[in-house]
Amino acid sequence: MRAFDAIIIGAGQAGPSLAGRLNDAGRKVAIIERKHVGGTCVNTGCKPTKTLVASAYAAHLARRGADYGIIPTGPVRVDMAKVRDRAYQVTLDSRAGNESWLESMENCTLIRGHARFESPTTIRVGEELLTAPQIFLNVGGRAAIPDFPGIQDVPYLTNSDIVVLDRVPKHLVIVGGSYIGLEFAQIYRRFGAEVTVVEKGPRLVSREDEDVSQAIREILEGEGIRIRTGAECIRFRWHEDGVAVGVDCTEGAPEVIGSDVLLAVGRRPNTDDLGLDKAGVETDTRGYIKVGDDLATNVEGIWALGDCNGRGAFTHTAYNDFEILAANLLDGESRKVSDRVLGYALYIDPPLGRVGMTEGQARQSGRNILVGTRPMSRVGRAVEKGETLGFMKLIADADTRKILGASILGTGGDEAIHGILDLMNADATFDTLRWAVPIHPTVSELWPTVVLEMKAG
Ligand SMILES: Cc1cc2nc3c(=O)[nH]c(=O)nc-3n(C[C@H](O)[C@H](O)[C@H](O)COP(=O)(O)OP(=O)(O)OC[C@H]3O[C@@H](n4cnc5c(N)ncnc54)[C@H](O)[C@@H]3O)c2cc1C
Repeated sequence: MRAFDAIIIGAGQAGPSLAGRLNDAGRKVAIIERKHVGGTCVNTGCKPTKTLVASAYAAHLARRGADYGIIPTGPVRVDMAKVRDRAYQVTLDSRAGNESWLESMENCTLIRGHARFESPTTIRVGEELLTAPQIFLNVGGRAAIPDFPGIQDVPYLTNSDIVVLDRVPKHLVIVGGSYIGLEFAQIYRRFGAEVTVVEKGPRLVSREDEDVSQAIREILEGEGIRIRTGAECIRFRWHEDGVAVGVDCTEGAPEVIGSDVLLAVGRRPNTDDLGLDKAGVETDTRGYIKVGDDLATNVEGIWALGDCNGRGAFTHTAYNDFEILAANLLDGESRKVSDRVLGYALYIDPPLGRVGMTEGQARQSGRNILVGTRPMSRVGRAVEKGETLGFMKLIADADTRKILGASILGTGGDEAIHGILDLMNADATFDTLRWAVPIHPTVSELWPTVVLEMKAG
């Protein structure tokens, strides 16, 4: 049995950084990875998808060239093999960078294989047993495959397969109208596929406010993406042209025939094959590892970071989990997950940048709220860029004057949201924004104007 000071399971978005800090502190660390270093984000998530988003945007802009006075000399063609290779290369470079970083750590050993608990302090990887007084779980998640009727009888794609596709499907049916599904919907529509999104709920991205959902729907439908919400009893059967997806919507045909199907109906944690029972680590009913505000599990000496603890579903939340643990275990601090101000983005074009509460959540909290909105058609920068779809919205507490949340569905929204995110982290009132002198012309420069126009919500 090999003994270490710490064992990290999973080399995703938190594990390697934690290995780095422990290594620097002179601790003997093992980090175990069963597939690719970098985890979901680098290999099948953020990196390849955002590279594909960039290619899709280039195709879209090329088609719109005449709007800008740039006249195309022929129809826009998409070289899907090249698109795929570009995304794959970004992944490979990032993976290789992460690997060589881990390998450069003097006190850290990268072990390849599937890790499983034998006891609260012992891990098995193949024939080998490893032990450590501290064990960190960074096992992430994978695409959920619900038990839809007929799903076993038809071929389907998940995020892992579609990021390496080197062809444009004739008709891509995407089951799931939330963040992952919508990004792929627009990407493949812009590559030239027919795309239908099938969503069982009454609206897209149901966690967002209704006005945001509706505006997203209009943006996607404006590009020719078909949306079937309220799809009851989703089911699948083989069809000579591909796959028939039963949707039973209140309106429209009861079946959609697609050449390809992408399942984007949520994620599940990689905790079912970790032997957690042998360590006595508790999970919730969906398999997420239960942790306290300090990321400790119910078993002393075992912590869980990233997607597998159900406290975040993003690369930046996984990384922040690492920061919290490193600060608490190595720097004598007492940081908490609940101090985190959550921001995120949906990378359709224009993107949705979000932070804090939605307007609906703010209202439900019983506070007196102020709400300010502005259409992107009245944002100079958006007009100049010829990208005027969407709107920006700020929500604040009328009594404390603290900002509760914001969204920008609009060009540059993924960047411009950070002005609000930073103010919320600084616990500042919205009056601070009122007297800021933002740069012209930017999207951010409109925040002070939105503040001036806020009304009781
Ligand atoms: C299509 C898609 C797009 C996304 N886009 C974004 C985005 O734009 N921005 C964003 O912030 N987030 C995005 N995400 C989410 C982001 O990828 C995850 O939140 C992030 O990767 C979580 O990191 P993690 O370290 O918790 O887990 P992961 O990155 O999933 O890493 C876990 C690692 O653990 C390994 N592992 C699991 N079990 C074991 C075991 N028993 N033994 C050994 N190794 C094991 C896995 O192989 C994996 O490498 C996206 C996700 C998807 C699917």
